Amino acid sequence: MSKFIPYGRQDISDEDIDAVVRILKSDFITQGPEVGNFEESLSRYCEARHCSVVNSATSGLHIACLALGLGEGDYLWTVPNSFVASSNCGLYCGAKVDFVDIDPKTFNLCTDSLEEKLKEAKKNNKLPKVVIPVHFGGLSCDMDTISRLSKEYGFSIIEDASHAVGGEYKGKKVGSCQYSDMTIFSFHPVKIVTSGEGGAVLTNSDELHKRLELFRSHGVTRRKDLLKDNQQANFYYEQLELGLNYRLTDFQSALGASQLKRLDEFIGKRNVIAKKYHERLDRRLQTQTVGGDSLSAYHLFVILLPKEMTDRRDEIFTYMRERQIGVNVHYIPIHTQPYYQEFGFKWGDFPIAEDYYKRTLSIPMFSSLSDEEQSFVIEKINGALG
Ligand SMILES: *Cc1c(COP(=O)(O)O)cnc(C)c1O
Repeated sequence: MSKFIPYGRQDISDEDIDAVVRILKSDFITQGPEVGNFEESLSRYCEARHCSVVNSATSGLHIACLALGLGEGDYLWTVPNSFVASSNCGLYCGAKVDFVDIDPKTFNLCTDSLEEKLKEAKKNNKLPKVVIPVHFGGLSCDMDTISRLSKEYGFSIIEDASHAVGGEYKGKKVGSCQYSDMTIFSFHPVKIVTSGEGGAVLTNSDELHKRLELFRSHGVTRRKDLLKDNQQANFYYEQLELGLNYRLTDFQSALGASQLKRLDEFIGKRNVIAKKYHERLDRRLQTQTVGGDSLSAYHLFVILLPKEMTDRRDEIFTYMRERQIGVNVHYIPIHTQPYYQEFGFKWGDFPIAEDYYKRTLSIPMFSSLSDEEQSFVIEKINGALG
C-alpha cells in the first residue's frame, strides 16, 4: 500500500458539490437563504433553540465569550489538552486564562480537579466567569457535574464541541445545550462534517442569541425590536456593539447543510472503525474510555503508549510516517506553548496532560477509511511496538 493515509480527511459527495454549484450560480453567494437553512438544520438536529453559523469555531468561541461579557479582570478556564483556540478566545477579550488538568482515562476535563481549583479560587476571590470544557476526540465531558458546579460557583459554560458534532451524552445530542450556555462546533475539513472553514454557536437563550448575532456582524442590526430609534425608514440600521465580520457564506452553508444529511452515517462508520481498533490493537495500548452514557463522534482515535515506551513515541511517529501513515499528535499542552509561558505557565503545571502528551498518537480515523487501509494501520502499529 503506497497511498498516504492521513489521520483525518473530509468526505465530499457529488451531492455536496452540486449543492455548492447551485449557490454559486444563484443571485446571492454570501448572505442568501442557505445560511438560515443550515442554522435551522443544525438547531433541529441538536434540539437547541438557536444556532448562529460563523466562519470558524475560533470565531464562534470569540463571540460566545463576548456575548457573556467576558473582559478585563475576568478569568476563563479550559483544559491544556486542546487546540490553542479554546483558550485564545479568553485572551482576545482581555481576560486571564487558566487551566484545569485532564482525567487520565477520558482525556477530558477532570471534574475533581475542577472542583478543587474552584474551592481554592473562591478563597482567593478569583473564580472564573467562563469555563470551556472541550469534548476531546468527540467524547462529551461529564457535563452533569460541570453544570452542577457552575450553579454552585456561578460561572458560565461554553462547550467546545469542535470534535463532537453528532455525538451524544445522556440521551441528548451534543449541542442541545442542556448543561451549558452555548456550544461551539467546527466545520474545518479534518472535523466530522465540513463547510471548508466554518463553525456554529448553539444556545437555548434568546438573550445570548441576540448578542451572538450582533457580534457576528459588526454589532450592527436592522431588527426593529433592537433599535434605539425604531421610528426610522426601512434602510435604517444601528451599531449597538463593537462586533466583527465572522459571517459564513451562503455556498459554505450549502456545503455544510448537505454534509449534515450524512452526519449520522459518518458517526456510524467512525464507531465501526473504533470498534475494530479496540478489538485488534495491541493490548498494551491505552485508548480513550467511553462511558455507557455517551456516543463518541470519534473525531480522533488516540492511542497512548505504555509508560515504559514513553521515550519511543517520536521514533514510532517517524516509523509510521515512513510507512505513509499520517499519525499525528493531539495536543501539545497549551500552557507549554511559548506564548503561554510568557504568562508564567511552565512544564510541570498540569502533569496529567503533560504525561498524556508525551505518550499519545492520533491514528487514522475518518469515515472513508477502508477496511484494508485500517488493517494495514493496525499491522504497522502492532509491529512498531515490537
Ligand atoms: C479545530 C478546533 C478549534 C478551531 O476550529 P476552527 O474551525 O479551525 O477555528 C477549536 N477547538 C478545538 C478543540 C478544535 O479541535
